[in-house]
Amino acid sequence: KLHNTIQELKGNIRVFCRVRPLLSGENSSEEAKTISYPTSLEALGRGIDLMQNGQSHCFTFDKVFVPSASQEDVFVEISQLVQSALDGYKVCIFAYGQTGSGKTYTMMGRPGNPDEKGLIPRCLEQIFQTRQSLRSQGWKYELQVSMLEIYNETIRDLLSTNKEAVRADNGVSPQKYAIKHDASGNTHVVELTVVDVRSSKQVSFLLDHAARNRSVGKTAMNEQSSRSHFVFTLKISGFNESTEQHVQGVLNLIDLAGSERLSKSGSTGDRLKETQAINKSLSSLGDVIFALAKKEDHVPFRNSKLTYLLQPCLGGDSKTLMFVNITPEPSSTGESLCSLRFAARVN
Ligand code: ADP
Ligand code: MG
Repeated sequence: KLHNTIQELKGNIRVFCRVRPLLSGENSSEEAKTISYPTSLEALGRGIDLMQNGQSHCFTFDKVFVPSASQEDVFVEISQLVQSALDGYKVCIFAYGQTGSGKTYTMMGRPGNPDEKGLIPRCLEQIFQTRQSLRSQGWKYELQVSMLEIYNETIRDLLSTNKEAVRADNGVSPQKYAIKHDASGNTHVVELTVVDVRSSKQVSFLLDHAARNRSVGKTAMNEQSSRSHFVFTLKISGFNESTEQHVQGVLNLIDLAGSERLSKSGSTGDRLKETQAINKSLSSLGDVIFALAKKEDHVPFRNSKLTYLLQPCLGGDSKTLMFVNITPEPSSTGESLCSLRFAARVN
């Protein structure tokens, strides 16, 4: 059975769109006119129409999740990718969208509400369960977690227990957090904390630790997190004692920085630098996925830290899924359109 599951997936790159519900207090008056879902057979569950200034913009993705879709509904559609990682594939799942569109909700969920757990905790539960059930077939899995943040093209170790190390932006040692790829496609980030994990409970403890480290920056937590990329990496190595089979998979779950276009006039100094770094890395990510989807000879991995870090997990026979998160608020139509266009380009 091993290695067969992925055949059912169409290609290596998929794009899912998720529209979050309106939140209480948000203006709903024009909602029905702004976003609609085509009901034609070929677009059912895959199409989305966005109305802007009386003009309709239609997009089709591999899947469209309407506002009423639950976290479980979303997870069901990605659990196959989790199985692929256990089978030895390299997998990346991204959440792309403007701040407030539901990226963190999709990845992490709502704290304290088990029904609203996001993809990261659900993936881990599946992995630990599968690990347990494969034990009887002779499989032993070792799992290692790391979590980092890329802020202004600089890596921060979110599992470091040394607060100063997390805070130190750069310059301490040029070697620190240097990204190294070896010939067999393994990535090593110099001095990055890597933790052997044995239970999903332990991972949720680490996620809490990472969330506290993220808020160490000068700005408020929400602000900070919307301006950096969060990269959760699970390295999976499996060994079967009876068959002597080895598998090495990687599951990367990435909560991207907010994609909103920041007004150029208002940005100066640090803010301008941040804006440029975000724009650069998000457009680099788009360029890389687009080049891969089009099977171009040159893939510009080296144009940003994020794409360079994930290089071995994006090309070849690895699997990539991009969520484009959008909000139904009429006032966000312009941003939603930008996000949908970005996603349509890589689709
Ligand atoms: P982002 O990470 O893109 O900035 P969040 O995930 O923080 O956005 O979502 C913004 C707000 O919307 C949060 O209060 C979150 O709980 C809520 N939210 C997002 N998606 C959903 C959803 N599918 N169902 C219910 N609430 C959601
Ligand atoms: Mg967020």
